[in-house]
Amino acid sequence: MEKQETAKTIAGHDVKRVHEKISDYLVRSEYDYICVINTQTGMLYVDTDELHADWDWTGEEHDYYDARALLVETFLDDNDGKDFMHCSEIPYIVKQLEEQKVYSFMFHFSTPEHNRHKKQWKFSYLDQEDGLILTTLKDVTKLLEQDHLTGELNRYGFIRKARAVLRDPAVDHDLAIMYINLKGFKAINELFGTEGGDLALREVVRVIHRSNLHPYAVGRIEADHFVCLVDPANINYEHLKQFLHQTLVFDQRSLDVYGVCGIYMIPAEERLDSVSNMCDRARMAKDYIEDEYVKPYAIFDQKMGSSYMERNDALRDISNALEKHEFQVYYQPVYDAFSGEIASAEALVRWKKADGEMVSPGIFVPALEDSGRISQMDLFVERSVLSFMEERYKKGQFIVPVSMNMSQMDFFDKDMMASVLLDVSNTDLPMDYTRFEVTETAYSTVASNNRNVLLDMKRIGVKFYLDDFGSGYSSFSTIRDYDFDVVKLDMGFVQKIGTTTKANAVIQAIIDMAHAIGSKVVAEGAETKEQVDALREMGCDYIQGFYFSKPLPQEEFEALLNAQYRED
Ligand code: C2E
Ligand code: MG
Ligand code: MG
Repeated sequence: MEKQETAKTIAGHDVKRVHEKISDYLVRSEYDYICVINTQTGMLYVDTDELHADWDWTGEEHDYYDARALLVETFLDDNDGKDFMHCSEIPYIVKQLEEQKVYSFMFHFSTPEHNRHKKQWKFSYLDQEDGLILTTLKDVTKLLEQDHLTGELNRYGFIRKARAVLRDPAVDHDLAIMYINLKGFKAINELFGTEGGDLALREVVRVIHRSNLHPYAVGRIEADHFVCLVDPANINYEHLKQFLHQTLVFDQRSLDVYGVCGIYMIPAEERLDSVSNMCDRARMAKDYIEDEYVKPYAIFDQKMGSSYMERNDALRDISNALEKHEFQVYYQPVYDAFSGEIASAEALVRWKKADGEMVSPGIFVPALEDSGRISQMDLFVERSVLSFMEERYKKGQFIVPVSMNMSQMDFFDKDMMASVLLDVSNTDLPMDYTRFEVTETAYSTVASNNRNVLLDMKRIGVKFYLDDFGSGYSSFSTIRDYDFDVVKLDMGFVQKIGTTTKANAVIQAIIDMAHAIGSKVVAEGAETKEQVDALREMGCDYIQGFYFSKPLPQEEFEALLNAQYRED
C-alpha cells in the first residue's frame, strides 16, 4: 500500500535528512524507539516503526498533548490499558537531556481494573541540531522490576510476576509463597564487609535455583528478605533445614549462613487476592518459628494472623501505656542452688491494660523493638527498679541485686545509654546490685557499635549477664570473646534435663566451661524438682523458675524479701 505523504519538515528541517542521520545512529545503537524533540515548541515526534529503516513518522507536528496521547497509545500494550495519568513535561525532559545526556522518566497509568502500573522510559541523547534533539527511547521498565544485586526481581517485580502466574489458568496446581530471611545478616556485613554481605545475598539466590524448588518467581523484596513462588509439592521439608544452612567461603574464611523460612499455602479461592498480603502472611509465619535451629521454618495458619493483629493493636495502644502507667515491673526471684535463699531477682515487665487484661512481653517487646520505642520502656523499667531498691536500701531493708533486660535496640539509642549510665553512676546502691541482661546477638551488636558505654558501665561495677545462653548459634564464640559475670543457661536446656543422657552431659559441660572462665551460672525455667536436683548436682550456682516462684508483683516480692530477712 502506498504510504500516505506525511510531514516533510520538522522545525524547518528536511525530514529525509533527519531520517538519514537517525539511521546512522541506528546501526550503532541499541534502541527501542527513535524520538525527536523540538526544543523550541516542546513537541515530541516519535517513530513507531521499529522494524523498518523506512521512516514512517506517525504524524505531522502533533501538539504536545496529542503526541503524549499517541506515545501512550503506541507504547503501552493492551494489558496495560490506556488510562494515562501523568508524564513529565517535555520542556523538563529537554532540560534534563541537555544537562545529563540521558534521562529517565516514568509513566504512571492504570489498567481497566484500576491496578496502578508504572513504566519507565529512558531517553538517550544522540545529537542536537538547530532546535532538534535526536534521541533514542528505551523501555527500562524491566530495570524497575529488577534487583541489581542478585539479578532477581525486586518487590514490585515479584508482585507483578507472581500475580501473572496466580492468574494463569495453565498453572492449575497449588501454589505457595516462601519468605526467606537470613539470620544475623548485620553481623555478616560487619565481619565480612559489604562485599561479603553481597556475596551471601547472591548465594541465597544460587541456592534457591540449585534446589528442587523450581520457583516460578524469586524476588529480593528488601535487604536480606527473599520471596519465592513455588509449587508446594516441590518443598521437601526434610531437606529444608539443610537448605537453610549454607557455608560460604569468603576471603579464605568460611562463613555459616543460616536462614529461616515462613510459608504461606495459597488457598485456591484466594488466588486473585493481593500478592503483597500473601507475602505478609508468609513473613508472619516466619516470625512464629519457635526454635530456628531445630526447625527453621513454619507454615502460616489463621491463629498467627490473629495474634499478629494483637501485636499491631498492642503497638497502637502502647504509645499511651507509658503515660497511663500501664506498665508494671514484676520480679522473679533467683535462688542460690545450695542455700535455697533468694540471691537476686530478674525484673520482667508486664503490661496491664486499663481493662485489666495482662499482655505478655512476648507480644509487645518485639512490637516496641520494631517501632523503635523499646528504649523508652526499658528506661522506665530501669528507673522503677532503681527507685524501688533505693527506697528499701535507704530504709535499711534487705535488698538483693536485680537484673534488667536490655534490648539490642537500646544500644543503638545513644541518649538512652547515656541516661542509663548517668542513673547507675548516681545511685546510692552498692554498684554491683545493678545488673543488665543481654542476649548474645545484642551483645555482639553492642560490642561492635557502642563498646565504650559498655566499658564505662563495667568500670563503675555494673554486672552483665549473658541471657538465653545456648539458644543462638554463636554461643561459644560469644563466651570466648567477651567477659560476662553470669551466664544464664537457656530454659530450652533445662527443660530437656532427664530426657536423654546427652542433654545432661551438655549442661554439665556448659556449667564447667562457665566456671572455668570465671562466670557464675543461672539456670532459667526450672519447673520440676527433678530439674532442680539435677542442676544442683551439676554444680549450677543459681536457679530461677516456676518451681521456686513465678515473676511477682512488687508487693509480693517485697513480702518474700522481708520474710527472708527475718529468718536471717
Ligand atoms: P527472658 O529475659 O529470658 O526472661 C525469662 C522468661 O522466662 C520470662 O518470661 C519468665 O517469666 C519466664 N520464666 C521464668 N521461669 C520460668 C519457668 O519455670 N517456666 C517457663 N515456661 N517460663 C519461665 P516473660 O516475663 O514473659 O518475658 C519474656 C521475655 O521478654 C524475656 O525473656 C525478655 O527477653 C523480654 N523482657 C521481659 N521484660 C523485659 C524488659 O523490661 N525489657 C526488655 N527489653 N525485654 C524484656
Ligand atoms: Mg532475661
Ligand atoms: Mg532468658
